[in-house]
Amino acid sequence: MKKSNITLFAAAAALRASAAFAQAPPAIQPVMMKQLKPDVWAGLGGSGGNSTIYIGKTGVIVVDAKQTEAGAKDLLAEIAKLTPKPVTTVFLTHSDGDHVNGLVAYPTSVKVIAHENNKKEQQAAIAAGGRGAPPPDRLPSQVVAKNKETMTIDGMKLELYHWGPAHTSGDLIVYQPATKIVSTGDIVVTNRADDNPNIHFEKNGSTEGWLENVKGMIALNADTYVTGHGDLATKADLQRKLNATTARRNKIAAMIKEGKTLDDIKAALPDAPAPNAPARGAGAPPAAGGGGGRGGPAPLTFVKTAYQELTKGGRR
Ligand SMILES: [Zn+2]
Repeated sequence: MKKSNITLFAAAAALRASAAFAQAPPAIQPVMMKQLKPDVWAGLGGSGGNSTIYIGKTGVIVVDAKQTEAGAKDLLAEIAKLTPKPVTTVFLTHSDGDHVNGLVAYPTSVKVIAHENNKKEQQAAIAAGGRGAPPPDRLPSQVVAKNKETMTIDGMKLELYHWGPAHTSGDLIVYQPATKIVSTGDIVVTNRADDNPNIHFEKNGSTEGWLENVKGMIALNADTYVTGHGDLATKADLQRKLNATTARRNKIAAMIKEGKTLDDIKAALPDAPAPNAPARGAGAPPAAGGGGGRGGPAPLTFVKTAYQELTKGGRR
């Protein structure tokens, strides 16, 4: 075989291999169920973000739906092992596909509750189309517009908070006072290689808002925080993250005042590794977290996001 033929053959084989890879369904990581209280569970990992499960008198409330149909079916099967009651309500902590798109596996009758900006972000993602866009027939059927709203669903009292944009413009924090459990969404995650919060600048997230939201969550009478990805967290974990991020943002602000450039600041403040974090690229999801699936630009780093905010650069 001539060299050019070998090259062609290799290229064809590589194409076939990549096509097969693209068509193969993604491997399903089983969800890990963890009991938090007699009727409250965390569904950790699996496909997409963590879920919180509340078993009520006649039905089940789920916070965050998982990323894929198969992953959500896996979660629903685990719930079915705990109770025959149907899932009636899903809260969404934000609009990223890894928390929303699993809704396709839920009955169409399910009530979907989210912040009003979450719904707007989903509508924008649907209009933009492309891989990873949310299911258009499962848009939130009820939206939260206030900074605090209290709901009693199926005998369970829940408080919903939105202290401004943080991870995205439509973050919603779900808190059950009776059990002292908070679902943080991706405002708090434990699986990043660095200790910085993940802010979607393209979804109008905010580093300043992140600080406000974490302060708000710490002020709640809570002791278990179901994070967006990774392990459960304690109030002490949140306080440590808040202290580190406050110090980092203050340092960025001080350097801007001194007339330092973004490159100067990046060089002075490289990403600090998170305690016990997996090595970069090992197990952590892409920083976009499944995003709107619009294949947009890579997300900004924390330093760049804070810099743009502090210099009033606004959206790019
Ligand atoms: Zn996520």
